[in-house]
Amino acid sequence: MSTNQNQNLTDGMHIIIDALKKNDIDTIYGVVGIPVTDMARHAQAVGIRYIGFRHEQSAGNAAAISGYITQKPGICLTVSAPGFLNGMVALANATTNGFPMIQISGSSNRAIIDLQQGDYEELDQMNIAKPFVKASYRVNKPEDLGIALARAIRTSVSGRPGGVYLDLTTEVLAAVMDKDEADKTIFKVEDPAPKQLPSPYSIKKALQLLASAKQPLIILGKGAAYAQADEKIRQFVEETGIPYLPMSMAKGLLPDNHPQSAASARSYALSNADVVVLMGARLNWLLDHGKGKHWSPDTQFIQLDIEPTEIDSNRPISAPIVGDIDSSVEALLTGLKSIPVKSPNEWLATIDEHKKVNVEKMATKLNTDTSPMNYFNALRAIRDVLVDHKDVYVVNEGANTLDNARNIIDMYQPRKRLDCGTWGVMGVGMGYAVGASVTSGIPVVAIEGDSAFGFSGMEIETICRYKLPVTILIFNNGGIYRGDDKNLHGDTDPSPTVLMADARYDKMIEAFGGIGYYATTPQEIQQALKKGITSRSPTLINVIIDPAVGTESGHIGNLNPKSVAGN
Ligand code: ADP
Ligand code: MG
Repeated sequence: MSTNQNQNLTDGMHIIIDALKKNDIDTIYGVVGIPVTDMARHAQAVGIRYIGFRHEQSAGNAAAISGYITQKPGICLTVSAPGFLNGMVALANATTNGFPMIQISGSSNRAIIDLQQGDYEELDQMNIAKPFVKASYRVNKPEDLGIALARAIRTSVSGRPGGVYLDLTTEVLAAVMDKDEADKTIFKVEDPAPKQLPSPYSIKKALQLLASAKQPLIILGKGAAYAQADEKIRQFVEETGIPYLPMSMAKGLLPDNHPQSAASARSYALSNADVVVLMGARLNWLLDHGKGKHWSPDTQFIQLDIEPTEIDSNRPISAPIVGDIDSSVEALLTGLKSIPVKSPNEWLATIDEHKKVNVEKMATKLNTDTSPMNYFNALRAIRDVLVDHKDVYVVNEGANTLDNARNIIDMYQPRKRLDCGTWGVMGVGMGYAVGASVTSGIPVVAIEGDSAFGFSGMEIETICRYKLPVTILIFNNGGIYRGDDKNLHGDTDPSPTVLMADARYDKMIEAFGGIGYYATTPQEIQQALKKGITSRSPTLINVIIDPAVGTESGHIGNLNPKSVAGN
């Protein structure tokens, strides 16, 4: 009798795992501890992969990027209070970037928290999460776990995707329930991200404006890449013949060597376009808010976005198309049959001339060898290897390392470039590398500034523990921006921007059984990188570049206030 009873009982931890499983969640990224350790064990027991990290922020970044790649929410599991807060940085970043992610965190005793009686890791997590997410839910009863997860999934992937916080109290995790009754409370979410069709009026208005344009330009953003409407977007770009600019993470949505890419004539194209089509790209700081020297005040805008409140956020939008990109581009393609758009051949030819000049200037920089190396000749070496491995993921963060790699490393496939994104954040590197390789099984090449790497560097142990096919290149110029800055006081402490130029990052990975290389020439980079990618073994290449190369804040030095005293 008592055995029977036991067999029919379940608890909160099992119910949430069963609910995740029912919704085809195959991986959880996290760091365990009180009160969620057993939850991770139960996940493994039912065949959900658990990837354990050294810091919650990296676990969260891995979850977020898997959400971006798969359109399914990435799941991050954290412990209460400090663990929760560490994960929140990644969750907030996911929301800002529009990546679907759910952070599930254990929290301490509800009653003690609410009376502020000083519980172990006491924190009102649900309320703290609210400003950083699309929604923040707390579950107080085990029979609500199924519905709570369903809401979390739907909220994270529908409309503009983003982060959701799910708070599971210690009581609910431990609460016992009849198994059959519990099974009835969990279900698979039906159509979690329904199509959102654009209005026929908005399509007509946009095509009329486009048909009247002489110098139109399409800007592809990571919203367009996320939508997985790759073929339709290519068709629209090619049928209209309009030049396009990819935003950083939209590189590869169409191959960077596409004849209509205006990337190497970016400023010219932006400042001379009369009609700009924003396709899943926001007019935020990354596009100078549509204002300033790169933009003409006369430019008119068509904007495709799933989020109506994005429209008119920085400049008036003449033709808003509110809907999901896949449906919207499909409607535009159909509309072209009645409102044709002629290919702007003269405009394309002028853009081509500008491209040629810029490409030649860049080629000179790329092909000039120096000792020690600089960003250009080191990145040339990487570019020449990656051209033979077009399917690898490229993770990229840093200041100069980011700016230069974005320009020099061409992408050929959609959603393969993963970088600092909307916030320009540092610290995503190893989390994104783990998330991309676990999700896809495809090799990842992470191109990291030495400073940027430091934020998540301990995760090389995670990479080695799970034997992931990740090759990390550290652009080591011994500093934030550059490594030759002087302490203004003149004492022996290094300047605020200086790091150790002779740091042997390559030895770090050896400590965990990975393979380290010390590269001082482009040839050494190439050999090591080829080996790293083809061996599929955790590899780290310490790329030694000149401490004197690099500009303060990279391409966005204008955002950095300079004090008079510092000049
Ligand atoms: P980027 O940084 O590449 O310019 P942003 O992240 O600024 O891109 O902009 C992406 C935009 O795409 C967001 O405004 C978001 O609402 C929108 N978006 C995301 N997914 C979709 C989708 N499936 N359909 C339409 N718009 C989308
Ligand atoms: Mg540096």
